Amino acid sequence: MKRTLIFVLLCLLGVPSFGWGRLGHATIAEIAERHLTKRAKQNIERYTKGTPLWEYSHWMDDVVKTPPYDVKLAGWHASVCTPDCKCTPAVRLEVRGLRDAVSAMEFWRECLSDLESVPDSTVLLGIKCIIHMVGDFHCPAHVRFSDNVNDLKYPVSFFGKPMDTLHRVWDSKLIERGSGLVFADFREYATRLDTWSRKDIRRATKGWAREWFEDCARDVRPIVGTVPQGAELGQEFVEQNIGLAELELRKAGYQLAKALNVIFGK
Ligand SMILES: [Zn+2]
Repeated sequence: MKRTLIFVLLCLLGVPSFGWGRLGHATIAEIAERHLTKRAKQNIERYTKGTPLWEYSHWMDDVVKTPPYDVKLAGWHASVCTPDCKCTPAVRLEVRGLRDAVSAMEFWRECLSDLESVPDSTVLLGIKCIIHMVGDFHCPAHVRFSDNVNDLKYPVSFFGKPMDTLHRVWDSKLIERGSGLVFADFREYATRLDTWSRKDIRRATKGWAREWFEDCARDVRPIVGTVPQGAELGQEFVEQNIGLAELELRKAGYQLAKALNVIFGK
Protein backbone atom coordinates (compact mmCIF):
# COMPACT_ATOMS: atom_id res chain seq x y z
CA MET A 1 0.00 0.00 0.00
CA LYS A 2 2.76 2.40 1.06
CA ARG A 3 4.82 1.46 -1.99
CA THR A 4 1.85 2.07 -4.28
CA LEU A 5 1.35 5.49 -2.71
CA ILE A 6 4.99 6.46 -3.25
CA PHE A 7 4.78 5.26 -6.87
CA VAL A 8 1.65 7.33 -7.47
CA LEU A 9 3.29 10.40 -5.90
CA LEU A 10 6.41 9.99 -8.04
CA CYS A 11 4.25 9.68 -11.16
CA LEU A 12 2.33 12.81 -10.23
CA LEU A 13 5.48 14.80 -9.53
CA GLY A 14 7.14 13.53 -12.66
CA VAL A 15 10.42 12.67 -10.89
CA PRO A 16 12.79 11.80 -12.38
CA SER A 17 11.48 12.81 -15.76
CA PHE A 18 13.40 14.78 -18.30
CA GLY A 19 11.90 17.35 -20.65
CA TRP A 20 13.48 18.14 -23.97
CA GLY A 21 16.99 16.75 -24.25
CA ARG A 22 19.99 19.04 -24.68
CA LEU A 23 19.22 19.89 -28.32
CA GLY A 24 15.68 21.06 -27.51
CA HIS A 25 16.53 23.04 -24.39
CA ALA A 26 19.57 24.73 -25.95
CA THR A 27 17.55 25.65 -29.05
CA ILE A 28 14.81 27.23 -26.93
CA ALA A 29 17.37 29.22 -24.89
CA GLU A 30 19.14 30.34 -28.07
CA ILE A 31 15.89 31.59 -29.65
CA ALA A 32 15.10 33.44 -26.41
CA GLU A 33 18.56 35.01 -26.23
CA ARG A 34 18.04 36.42 -29.74
CA HIS A 35 14.84 38.13 -28.61
CA LEU A 36 15.97 39.75 -25.36
CA THR A 37 15.71 43.50 -25.10
CA LYS A 38 18.99 45.35 -24.66
CA ARG A 39 18.06 46.29 -21.10
CA ALA A 40 17.07 42.72 -20.15
CA LYS A 41 20.29 41.34 -21.64
CA GLN A 42 22.40 43.81 -19.66
CA ASN A 43 20.56 43.10 -16.42
CA ILE A 44 20.78 39.31 -16.88
CA GLU A 45 24.52 39.58 -17.55
CA ARG A 46 24.99 41.18 -14.12
CA TYR A 47 24.13 37.76 -12.69
CA THR A 48 25.38 35.39 -15.38
CA LYS A 49 28.66 37.24 -16.02
CA GLY A 50 27.97 36.78 -19.73
CA THR A 51 27.37 33.01 -19.69
CA PRO A 52 25.12 32.29 -22.69
CA LEU A 53 21.61 31.20 -21.71
CA TRP A 54 21.88 27.82 -23.45
CA GLU A 55 24.57 26.78 -20.96
CA TYR A 56 21.94 26.95 -18.20
CA SER A 57 19.16 25.33 -20.19
CA HIS A 58 19.73 21.74 -19.03
CA TRP A 59 20.90 22.50 -15.50
CA MET A 60 17.65 21.53 -13.74
CA ASP A 61 17.84 18.06 -15.29
CA ASP A 62 21.53 17.76 -14.37
CA VAL A 63 20.73 18.33 -10.67
CA VAL A 64 17.37 16.57 -10.55
CA LYS A 65 18.70 13.87 -8.22
CA THR A 66 21.19 16.06 -6.31
CA PRO A 67 20.37 17.42 -2.84
CA PRO A 68 19.04 19.98 -2.06
CA TYR A 69 17.59 20.44 -5.55
CA ASP A 70 15.98 16.99 -5.63
CA VAL A 71 13.57 18.33 -3.01
CA LYS A 72 13.65 22.12 -3.60
CA LEU A 73 12.89 21.93 -7.32
CA ALA A 74 10.84 18.72 -7.27
CA GLY A 75 7.90 18.71 -9.64
CA TRP A 76 8.95 21.86 -11.47
CA HIS A 77 9.49 19.99 -14.75
CA ALA A 78 5.84 19.65 -15.74
CA SER A 79 2.40 21.08 -15.08
CA VAL A 80 -1.20 19.94 -15.11
CA CYS A 81 -4.58 21.11 -16.33
CA THR A 82 -8.17 19.93 -16.55
CA PRO A 83 -9.34 17.86 -19.55
CA ASP A 84 -10.54 21.11 -21.14
CA CYS A 85 -7.05 22.62 -20.70
CA LYS A 86 -7.63 24.94 -17.74
CA CYS A 87 -4.53 25.21 -15.55
CA THR A 88 -6.32 26.60 -12.51
CA PRO A 89 -4.62 26.87 -9.11
CA ALA A 90 -7.25 24.37 -7.87
CA VAL A 91 -6.22 21.60 -10.31
CA ARG A 92 -2.53 22.29 -9.66
CA LEU A 93 -3.14 22.04 -5.91
CA GLU A 94 -5.27 18.93 -6.16
CA VAL A 95 -3.03 16.94 -8.49
CA ARG A 96 0.48 18.18 -7.63
CA GLY A 97 0.23 20.14 -4.38
CA LEU A 98 1.31 23.23 -6.40
CA ARG A 99 4.64 21.51 -7.20
CA ASP A 100 4.54 22.30 -10.91
CA ALA A 101 6.25 24.53 -13.46
CA VAL A 102 3.39 27.03 -13.82
CA SER A 103 3.15 27.60 -10.06
CA ALA A 104 6.96 27.87 -9.95
CA MET A 105 6.90 30.48 -12.75
CA GLU A 106 4.36 32.49 -10.75
CA PHE A 107 6.60 32.18 -7.67
CA TRP A 108 9.69 33.42 -9.55
CA ARG A 109 7.86 36.35 -11.13
CA GLU A 110 6.83 37.52 -7.67
CA CYS A 111 10.19 36.70 -6.05
CA LEU A 112 12.16 38.62 -8.73
CA SER A 113 9.79 41.60 -8.95
CA ASP A 114 12.29 43.72 -7.01
CA LEU A 115 15.73 42.47 -8.01
CA GLU A 116 17.59 44.74 -5.60
CA SER A 117 15.94 43.05 -2.61
CA VAL A 118 17.00 39.52 -3.64
CA PRO A 119 20.51 38.02 -3.18
CA ASP A 120 22.40 37.64 -6.49
CA SER A 121 22.69 33.86 -6.02
CA THR A 122 18.89 33.59 -5.73
CA VAL A 123 18.42 35.66 -8.89
CA LEU A 124 20.81 33.35 -10.75
CA LEU A 125 18.93 30.31 -9.48
CA GLY A 126 15.72 31.91 -10.76
CA ILE A 127 17.28 32.50 -14.19
CA LYS A 128 18.37 28.86 -14.45
CA CYS A 129 14.95 27.58 -13.39
CA ILE A 130 12.96 29.86 -15.69
CA ILE A 131 15.11 28.95 -18.72
CA HIS A 132 14.49 25.25 -18.12
CA MET A 133 10.86 25.31 -16.98
CA VAL A 134 9.43 27.28 -19.91
CA GLY A 135 11.06 24.71 -22.17
CA ASP A 136 9.96 21.72 -20.13
CA PHE A 137 6.28 22.53 -19.88
CA HIS A 138 6.13 22.71 -23.68
CA CYS A 139 7.33 19.14 -24.09
CA PRO A 140 4.18 17.10 -24.88
CA ALA A 141 5.28 14.38 -22.42
CA HIS A 142 5.24 17.02 -19.66
CA VAL A 143 1.70 18.22 -20.25
CA ARG A 144 -0.32 16.43 -17.60
CA PHE A 145 -4.11 16.29 -17.45
CA SER A 146 -6.21 15.66 -14.37
CA ASP A 147 -7.86 12.73 -16.17
CA ASN A 148 -4.67 11.36 -17.79
CA VAL A 149 -1.16 11.64 -16.36
CA ASN A 150 0.22 11.50 -19.94
CA ASP A 151 3.78 10.87 -18.77
CA LEU A 152 4.21 8.31 -21.58
CA LYS A 153 6.33 6.04 -19.42
CA TYR A 154 5.85 2.82 -21.34
CA PRO A 155 8.05 1.05 -23.87
CA VAL A 156 7.85 1.48 -27.62
CA SER A 157 10.31 0.98 -30.46
CA PHE A 158 11.68 3.77 -32.62
CA PHE A 159 13.10 2.89 -36.04
CA GLY A 160 13.50 -0.68 -34.85
CA LYS A 161 15.33 0.20 -31.62
CA PRO A 162 13.67 -0.58 -28.30
CA MET A 163 13.00 2.54 -26.20
CA ASP A 164 12.32 2.15 -22.50
CA THR A 165 9.68 4.89 -22.74
CA LEU A 166 7.70 6.87 -25.31
CA HIS A 167 8.61 9.83 -23.08
CA ARG A 168 12.23 9.51 -24.24
CA VAL A 169 11.13 9.64 -27.88
CA TRP A 170 9.33 12.94 -27.25
CA ASP A 171 12.21 14.32 -25.16
CA SER A 172 14.91 13.98 -27.76
CA LYS A 173 14.63 11.21 -30.38
CA LEU A 174 11.78 12.79 -32.36
CA ILE A 175 13.41 16.21 -32.81
CA GLU A 176 16.85 14.74 -33.51
CA ARG A 177 15.40 12.48 -36.19
CA GLY A 178 12.97 15.06 -37.56
CA SER A 179 15.56 17.84 -37.80
CA GLY A 180 18.56 15.66 -38.65
CA LEU A 181 20.53 17.65 -36.06
CA VAL A 182 22.43 16.90 -32.87
CA PHE A 183 23.06 18.97 -29.73
CA ALA A 184 26.06 20.80 -31.24
CA ASP A 185 23.78 22.13 -34.00
CA PHE A 186 21.40 24.00 -31.69
CA ARG A 187 22.24 27.42 -33.17
CA GLU A 188 21.33 26.16 -36.64
CA TYR A 189 18.08 24.74 -35.29
CA ALA A 190 17.28 28.06 -33.61
CA THR A 191 17.86 29.86 -36.91
CA ARG A 192 15.57 27.41 -38.73
CA LEU A 193 12.78 27.82 -36.18
CA ASP A 194 13.06 31.53 -35.40
CA THR A 195 11.01 32.66 -38.38
CA TRP A 196 7.83 34.06 -36.88
CA SER A 197 6.69 37.61 -37.56
CA ARG A 198 6.54 40.18 -34.76
CA LYS A 199 2.75 39.93 -34.89
CA ASP A 200 2.80 36.13 -34.45
CA ILE A 201 5.31 36.40 -31.61
CA ARG A 202 3.18 39.03 -29.86
CA ARG A 203 0.13 36.78 -30.14
CA ALA A 204 2.00 33.72 -28.83
CA THR A 205 3.49 35.52 -25.84
CA LYS A 206 0.39 37.18 -24.36
CA GLY A 207 -0.06 36.52 -20.66
CA TRP A 208 2.24 34.46 -18.44
CA ALA A 209 3.00 30.81 -17.76
CA ARG A 210 -0.59 29.74 -17.13
CA GLU A 211 -1.82 31.03 -20.50
CA TRP A 212 1.25 29.57 -22.24
CA PHE A 213 0.80 26.15 -20.69
CA GLU A 214 -2.94 26.13 -21.46
CA ASP A 215 -2.18 26.97 -25.09
CA CYS A 216 0.36 24.14 -25.21
CA ALA A 217 -2.16 21.76 -23.59
CA ARG A 218 -4.69 22.57 -26.33
CA ASP A 219 -2.04 21.65 -28.92
CA VAL A 220 -1.20 18.41 -27.11
CA ARG A 221 -4.65 17.17 -26.06
CA PRO A 222 -5.58 15.66 -29.47
CA ILE A 223 -2.62 13.23 -29.34
CA VAL A 224 -3.14 12.05 -25.74
CA GLY A 225 -3.55 8.28 -25.70
CA THR A 226 -2.92 7.82 -29.42
CA VAL A 227 0.24 5.68 -29.15
CA PRO A 228 -0.23 2.30 -27.46
CA GLN A 229 2.41 0.49 -25.41
CA GLY A 230 4.76 -1.48 -27.63
CA ALA A 231 3.99 0.57 -30.75
CA GLU A 232 6.58 0.36 -33.52
CA LEU A 233 7.27 3.96 -34.41
CA GLY A 234 9.15 5.13 -37.47
CA GLN A 235 9.05 7.67 -40.28
CA GLU A 236 5.27 8.02 -40.19
CA PHE A 237 5.35 8.96 -36.48
CA VAL A 238 8.10 11.51 -37.16
CA GLU A 239 6.20 13.09 -40.04
CA GLN A 240 2.99 13.25 -38.02
CA ASN A 241 4.56 14.76 -34.89
CA ILE A 242 7.63 16.83 -35.78
CA GLY A 243 5.37 19.79 -36.60
CA LEU A 244 3.91 19.77 -33.10
CA ALA A 245 7.33 19.39 -31.46
CA GLU A 246 8.76 22.30 -33.44
CA LEU A 247 5.70 24.46 -32.79
CA GLU A 248 6.28 24.00 -29.06
CA LEU A 249 10.03 24.68 -29.35
CA ARG A 250 9.26 27.98 -31.09
CA LYS A 251 6.57 29.03 -28.64
CA ALA A 252 8.85 28.13 -25.72
CA GLY A 253 11.69 30.22 -27.16
CA TYR A 254 9.55 33.31 -27.68
CA GLN A 255 7.78 32.92 -24.34
CA LEU A 256 11.07 32.46 -22.52
CA ALA A 257 12.29 35.73 -24.03
CA LYS A 258 9.07 37.40 -22.89
CA ALA A 259 9.46 36.05 -19.33
CA LEU A 260 13.05 37.29 -19.09
CA ASN A 261 12.16 40.64 -20.68
CA VAL A 262 9.34 41.16 -18.17
CA ILE A 263 11.55 40.39 -15.18
CA PHE A 264 14.85 41.91 -16.31
CA GLY A 265 13.77 44.54 -18.84
CA LYS A 266 12.60 47.11 -16.30
ZN1 LIG B 1 13.38 18.96 -16.83
